[in-house]
Amino acid sequence: MSVEIEQKKYRNFINGEWVPSNTGEVLESRNPADADEVVGYVQKSSKKDLDDSVKAAKGALRSWKKRSSVERGQYLYKVADILESRLDEVAETMTREMGKTLPEAMGETARGVAILRYYAGEGMHKIGDVIPSTDNRALLYTTRASLGVVGVITPWNFPVAIPIWKMAPALVYGNTVVLKPASETAVTAAKVLQCFQEAGFPSGAVNMVTGPGSVIGQAIIDNKDINGITFTGSNETGKRIGQGALARGAKYQLEMGGKNPVIVLEDADIDLAVEATISGGFRSTGQKCTATSRVIVHRSIYDQFKEKLLYRIDEITIGDGMNEGIWMGPCASESQLNTILSYIQKGKEEGATLIKGGKQLTDGPFEKGYFVEPTVFEHVKPEMTIAQEEIFGPVLALMKVDSIEEALTIANDVEYGLSASIFTTNIQHMLSFVDDMEAGLIRVNAESAGVELQAPFGGMKQSSSHSREQGQAAIEFFTSIKTVFIK
Ligand code: NDP
Repeated sequence: MSVEIEQKKYRNFINGEWVPSNTGEVLESRNPADADEVVGYVQKSSKKDLDDSVKAAKGALRSWKKRSSVERGQYLYKVADILESRLDEVAETMTREMGKTLPEAMGETARGVAILRYYAGEGMHKIGDVIPSTDNRALLYTTRASLGVVGVITPWNFPVAIPIWKMAPALVYGNTVVLKPASETAVTAAKVLQCFQEAGFPSGAVNMVTGPGSVIGQAIIDNKDINGITFTGSNETGKRIGQGALARGAKYQLEMGGKNPVIVLEDADIDLAVEATISGGFRSTGQKCTATSRVIVHRSIYDQFKEKLLYRIDEITIGDGMNEGIWMGPCASESQLNTILSYIQKGKEEGATLIKGGKQLTDGPFEKGYFVEPTVFEHVKPEMTIAQEEIFGPVLALMKVDSIEEALTIANDVEYGLSASIFTTNIQHMLSFVDDMEAGLIRVNAESAGVELQAPFGGMKQSSSHSREQGQAAIEFFTSIKTVFIK
């Protein structure tokens, strides 16, 4: 057993070296499609490990930020090339660690490569403006300063793309980084960090410490040498991070949950809307913060839409995401499966009608994994738990409405405001939706899940700390503006 552990063991990356935690303990990462398979062992680190990594990041800061952003971008181009050459290996690790299908994992890894190249190029873009001064002998302009050491706390649902879309801009804008990846997907994170290591970053510029969120995440919140914290994950953890960061004056950025609606109006292309609902609701087993979870349909087309939706669900192939032809993999973990099943139970208890799925799959190829059927409820009332809380699983709540006004009232009647989609051919309805929908991502005739790396990403209401990630928006978090007056 100990030989097997040694072969599959991943260490922390601190100050340019792979080092074991001082605790001597490891965490197991298991395959959710076959819980007998251990994908790897990662360090169960302590606060001391995290503090060591912050020391390294602080030590590297001065020389890293003194380089030009163009030079920093060159390092990101190298990481992109290395990751691209390992795309298969990284994607396979992702599928085995958290269950999304291999084609999706490959798509995400390719996205990671593209994000690295995008931010490498951002190193050549302008970072300030010249502003006319009232004094005609003065030069008034803005420039940007890096924050310093940035703590990056990431979830398991996009284990390559999310760490990269936080680390790449942090680095190109002159910050040094400590990554604490989700424990569920820490092996995938280690493989990404190997690419950073091989790109030859100066020691300490990029670090990774694995271990429980309650210990390592908390140590990031508490460490006074971390100047900014960027987080994606649950609302509960996000609020804790926001409060902790605020209390010691650190900058923070939180991307959290969603309860994303799709509205299907009487003049919609129904087939298109059905495909988008299937894809938005069930790809990645519904475990995307932008996943569709509420389906608000005009009464006049409700039956037709429902019939087509249920027909398409029957075509979904479920199984181990490593196998060809599988469209939907397992839930990422046993606890995620149990959460989803408890929401399904709540839906039944509160009086919604289960019209598809609803059960855990346990026989034959499903025996050792955490599989659940694609699930649909109808007669869902807006105040029911399954219409209000983020489920993060393949569960849709169907609701019937008589008008776009009613649809918008229901769509906005939740705490969240991440992504929202509408299907209509009526331009007035499109514009009303753009104006009145309370969401950071507005999608017209397209599924709720779907982001472009060059555009700002983030939510309204409880979905975020009201900042934006990705695209050029990232500069706002990872730098501070300096206003300069020279006479
Ligand atoms: P968490 O918010 O618990 O985890 C996200 C990250 O925060 C992980 O790296 C985690 O570490 C870390 N963390 C956990 N506890 C703390 C803490 N006390 N202080 C600082 N960091 C901490 O989300 P889960 O992974 O548990 O998922 C739970 C729910 O969150 C999901 O069901 C879903 O609703 C939502 N979620 C939303 C996501 C989104 O993209 N909006 C992404 C993932 C989840 P560790 O892994 O070690 O616990």
